[in-house]
Amino acid sequence: MEVRDRILVIEDDKSIRNFLHAVLEANDYDVIMAHTGTEAYSLITSRCPDLVILDLGLPDMDGMKILKNVREWSSMPIVVVSARTHEKDKVTALDMGADDYITKPFGTSELLARIRTALRHTRTGASAPGLKESGTFVSGSFVIDFDKHRVFVEGKDAGLTQNEFKIVSLLGRYAGRVLTYDYIMKEIWGPHMKNDNQILRVNMANIRRKIEKNPAQPEYIFTEAGVGYRMIEGD
Ligand code: CA
Repeated sequence: MEVRDRILVIEDDKSIRNFLHAVLEANDYDVIMAHTGTEAYSLITSRCPDLVILDLGLPDMDGMKILKNVREWSSMPIVVVSARTHEKDKVTALDMGADDYITKPFGTSELLARIRTALRHTRTGASAPGLKESGTFVSGSFVIDFDKHRVFVEGKDAGLTQNEFKIVSLLGRYAGRVLTYDYIMKEIWGPHMKNDNQILRVNMANIRRKIEKNPAQPEYIFTEAGVGYRMIEGD
Protein backbone atom coordinates (compact mmCIF):
# COMPACT_ATOMS: atom_id res chain seq x y z
CA MET A 1 0.00 0.00 0.00
CA GLU A 2 1.18 3.44 -0.83
CA VAL A 3 2.08 5.58 2.16
CA ARG A 4 -0.21 8.58 2.40
CA ASP A 5 1.11 12.01 3.21
CA ARG A 6 -0.02 13.19 6.62
CA ILE A 7 -1.31 16.76 6.81
CA LEU A 8 -1.82 18.63 10.05
CA VAL A 9 -4.54 21.28 9.82
CA ILE A 10 -4.23 24.00 12.46
CA GLU A 11 -7.50 25.91 12.36
CA ASP A 12 -9.95 27.08 15.01
CA ASP A 13 -12.89 27.80 12.70
CA LYS A 14 -15.07 24.69 12.75
CA SER A 15 -16.62 25.09 9.29
CA ILE A 16 -13.26 25.66 7.59
CA ARG A 17 -11.79 22.75 9.53
CA ASN A 18 -14.57 20.44 8.42
CA PHE A 19 -14.24 21.63 4.84
CA LEU A 20 -10.47 21.04 4.81
CA HIS A 21 -10.89 17.64 6.43
CA ALA A 22 -13.37 16.52 3.78
CA VAL A 23 -11.35 17.87 0.84
CA LEU A 24 -8.03 16.46 2.01
CA GLU A 25 -9.42 13.03 2.91
CA ALA A 26 -11.16 12.83 -0.46
CA ASN A 27 -7.76 13.47 -2.04
CA ASP A 28 -6.16 10.64 -0.13
CA TYR A 29 -4.29 12.54 2.53
CA ASP A 30 -4.08 11.36 6.10
CA VAL A 31 -5.52 14.31 8.02
CA ILE A 32 -4.99 15.30 11.64
CA MET A 33 -6.49 18.39 13.26
CA ALA A 34 -5.54 20.94 15.86
CA HIS A 35 -7.85 23.69 17.17
CA THR A 36 -5.24 25.63 19.09
CA GLY A 37 -1.55 26.43 18.96
CA THR A 38 -0.84 24.35 22.05
CA GLU A 39 -2.52 21.32 20.54
CA ALA A 40 -0.61 21.96 17.30
CA TYR A 41 2.78 21.88 19.02
CA SER A 42 2.04 18.53 20.60
CA LEU A 43 0.83 17.01 17.30
CA ILE A 44 3.79 18.37 15.34
CA THR A 45 6.22 16.60 17.63
CA SER A 46 4.21 13.43 18.31
CA ARG A 47 2.75 12.74 14.84
CA CYS A 48 5.42 14.19 12.52
CA PRO A 49 3.16 15.52 9.74
CA ASP A 50 4.52 15.75 6.17
CA LEU A 51 2.91 19.16 5.76
CA VAL A 52 1.20 21.73 7.96
CA ILE A 53 -1.71 23.98 7.01
CA LEU A 54 -1.56 26.91 9.38
CA ASP A 55 -4.22 29.47 10.23
CA LEU A 56 -2.75 32.65 11.71
CA GLY A 57 -5.64 33.72 13.93
CA LEU A 58 -5.74 31.08 16.67
CA PRO A 59 -7.47 31.41 20.06
CA ASP A 60 -4.35 30.93 22.20
CA MET A 61 -1.58 32.39 20.04
CA ASP A 62 -0.63 33.98 16.75
CA GLY A 63 0.11 31.39 14.06
CA MET A 64 3.24 33.37 13.16
CA LYS A 65 4.68 32.22 16.48
CA ILE A 66 4.22 28.58 15.48
CA LEU A 67 5.81 29.27 12.10
CA LYS A 68 8.81 30.95 13.69
CA ASN A 69 9.22 28.25 16.31
CA VAL A 70 8.97 25.27 13.92
CA ARG A 71 11.39 26.89 11.47
CA GLU A 72 14.04 26.95 14.17
CA TRP A 73 14.34 23.17 14.00
CA SER A 74 12.43 21.84 10.99
CA SER A 75 12.00 22.48 7.27
CA MET A 76 8.63 20.69 7.10
CA PRO A 77 6.41 22.39 4.52
CA ILE A 78 4.06 24.95 6.05
CA VAL A 79 1.26 26.48 4.01
CA VAL A 80 -0.34 29.49 5.67
CA VAL A 81 -4.07 29.86 5.10
CA SER A 82 -5.29 33.14 6.48
CA ALA A 83 -7.98 35.77 6.34
CA ARG A 84 -5.27 38.44 6.60
CA THR A 85 -4.99 39.85 3.13
CA HIS A 86 -2.40 42.56 3.72
CA GLU A 87 0.68 42.27 1.55
CA LYS A 88 2.79 42.88 4.63
CA ASP A 89 1.39 39.77 6.34
CA LYS A 90 2.08 37.62 3.30
CA VAL A 91 5.62 38.93 2.95
CA THR A 92 6.31 38.42 6.66
CA ALA A 93 5.00 34.84 6.62
CA LEU A 94 6.96 33.94 3.48
CA ASP A 95 10.15 35.55 4.72
CA MET A 96 9.74 33.70 8.02
CA GLY A 97 9.80 30.45 6.09
CA ALA A 98 6.22 29.66 5.09
CA ASP A 99 6.24 27.66 1.86
CA ASP A 100 3.14 29.36 0.58
CA TYR A 101 0.37 31.71 1.62
CA ILE A 102 -3.27 31.32 0.66
CA THR A 103 -5.87 33.95 1.38
CA LYS A 104 -9.37 33.02 2.59
CA PRO A 105 -11.69 32.39 0.88
CA PHE A 106 -9.79 30.00 -1.38
CA GLY A 107 -10.68 27.47 -4.08
CA THR A 108 -10.22 23.73 -3.58
CA SER A 109 -8.12 23.19 -6.67
CA GLU A 110 -5.86 26.10 -5.79
CA LEU A 111 -5.30 24.72 -2.30
CA LEU A 112 -4.55 21.20 -3.59
CA ALA A 113 -2.12 22.54 -6.18
CA ARG A 114 -0.21 24.53 -3.55
CA ILE A 115 -0.08 21.49 -1.26
CA ARG A 116 1.31 19.30 -4.05
CA THR A 117 3.93 21.93 -4.87
CA ALA A 118 5.02 22.27 -1.24
CA LEU A 119 5.24 18.48 -0.79
CA ARG A 120 7.17 18.03 -4.02
CA HIS A 121 9.79 20.54 -3.01
CA THR A 122 10.54 18.63 0.18
CA ARG A 123 10.81 15.36 -1.68
CA THR A 124 13.23 16.61 -4.30
CA GLY A 125 15.18 18.50 -1.69
CA ALA A 126 15.03 21.55 -3.93
CA SER A 127 14.86 23.76 -0.90
CA ALA A 128 18.22 22.54 0.36
CA PRO A 129 20.61 25.48 0.26
CA GLY A 130 23.41 25.31 -2.24
CA LEU A 131 21.75 22.57 -4.26
CA LYS A 132 23.03 22.66 -7.80
CA GLU A 133 20.23 22.54 -10.30
CA SER A 134 20.70 20.52 -13.46
CA GLY A 135 18.58 19.23 -16.31
CA THR A 136 15.64 21.20 -17.62
CA PHE A 137 12.43 22.83 -16.45
CA VAL A 138 9.63 22.63 -18.99
CA SER A 139 6.23 24.29 -19.08
CA GLY A 140 4.62 24.10 -22.50
CA SER A 141 6.96 25.78 -24.96
CA PHE A 142 8.95 27.45 -22.17
CA VAL A 143 12.19 25.66 -21.29
CA ILE A 144 14.93 26.45 -18.78
CA ASP A 145 18.13 24.55 -19.58
CA PHE A 146 20.03 24.66 -16.26
CA ASP A 147 23.16 23.07 -17.76
CA LYS A 148 23.49 25.39 -20.73
CA HIS A 149 22.32 28.41 -18.71
CA ARG A 150 19.77 29.27 -21.35
CA VAL A 151 16.05 29.83 -21.61
CA PHE A 152 14.17 28.81 -24.73
CA VAL A 153 10.72 29.92 -25.82
CA GLU A 154 9.19 28.02 -28.72
CA GLY A 155 12.60 26.58 -29.50
CA LYS A 156 14.33 29.96 -29.67
CA ASP A 157 17.00 31.18 -27.25
CA ALA A 158 15.48 34.08 -25.30
CA GLY A 159 18.92 35.72 -25.01
CA LEU A 160 18.81 36.45 -21.29
CA THR A 161 21.69 38.22 -19.54
CA GLN A 162 23.44 36.42 -16.71
CA ASN A 163 21.39 38.10 -13.97
CA GLU A 164 18.17 37.61 -15.91
CA PHE A 165 18.96 33.91 -16.18
CA LYS A 166 19.71 33.69 -12.46
CA ILE A 167 16.32 35.22 -11.63
CA VAL A 168 14.44 32.93 -14.01
CA SER A 169 16.25 29.80 -12.85
CA LEU A 170 15.63 30.68 -9.19
CA LEU A 171 11.90 31.03 -9.88
CA GLY A 172 12.02 27.81 -11.95
CA ARG A 173 13.63 25.90 -9.12
CA TYR A 174 10.68 26.86 -6.91
CA ALA A 175 8.05 26.78 -9.66
CA GLY A 176 4.53 27.18 -8.33
CA ARG A 177 5.76 28.94 -5.22
CA VAL A 178 5.78 32.66 -4.65
CA LEU A 179 9.21 34.07 -3.86
CA THR A 180 9.28 37.45 -2.14
CA TYR A 181 11.09 40.44 -3.67
CA ASP A 182 13.42 40.44 -0.69
CA TYR A 183 14.29 36.78 -1.05
CA ILE A 184 15.04 37.11 -4.76
CA MET A 185 17.12 40.25 -4.21
CA LYS A 186 19.24 38.54 -1.56
CA GLU A 187 19.72 35.38 -3.65
CA ILE A 188 20.79 37.25 -6.78
CA TRP A 189 22.59 40.33 -5.49
CA GLY A 190 23.67 39.19 -2.03
CA PRO A 191 22.68 40.14 1.51
CA HIS A 192 24.07 43.65 1.39
CA MET A 193 21.88 44.84 -1.43
CA LYS A 194 19.84 47.80 -0.27
CA ASN A 195 16.17 47.20 0.21
CA ASP A 196 14.98 48.66 -3.06
CA ASN A 197 13.19 46.51 -5.60
CA GLN A 198 13.78 48.85 -8.50
CA ILE A 199 16.66 46.84 -9.97
CA LEU A 200 14.59 43.65 -9.73
CA ARG A 201 11.60 45.31 -11.39
CA VAL A 202 13.78 46.54 -14.26
CA ASN A 203 15.25 43.06 -14.72
CA MET A 204 11.79 41.49 -14.65
CA ALA A 205 10.51 43.95 -17.27
CA ASN A 206 13.41 42.93 -19.53
CA ILE A 207 12.87 39.23 -18.87
CA ARG A 208 9.19 39.56 -19.75
CA ARG A 209 9.97 41.38 -22.97
CA LYS A 210 12.16 38.44 -23.94
CA ILE A 211 10.01 35.48 -22.84
CA GLU A 212 6.37 36.58 -22.81
CA LYS A 213 4.17 37.05 -25.87
CA ASN A 214 2.43 39.89 -24.08
CA PRO A 215 4.53 41.21 -21.16
CA ALA A 216 1.45 42.92 -19.70
CA GLN A 217 -0.31 39.55 -19.44
CA PRO A 218 2.42 37.11 -18.52
CA GLU A 219 1.98 33.37 -19.07
CA TYR A 220 5.12 32.13 -17.33
CA ILE A 221 6.10 34.47 -14.50
CA PHE A 222 3.29 36.03 -12.49
CA THR A 223 3.37 39.02 -10.17
CA GLU A 224 1.91 38.63 -6.69
CA ALA A 225 1.23 42.31 -6.15
CA GLY A 226 3.27 43.76 -3.31
CA VAL A 227 4.70 40.34 -2.44
CA GLY A 228 6.88 38.85 -5.18
CA TYR A 229 6.90 36.61 -8.26
CA ARG A 230 5.72 33.09 -8.96
CA MET A 231 6.62 30.88 -11.91
CA ILE A 232 4.04 28.65 -13.52
CA GLU A 233 4.16 24.96 -12.52
CA GLY A 234 6.23 22.69 -14.74
CA ASP A 235 4.63 20.03 -16.95
CA1 CA B 1 -8.81 31.52 12.86
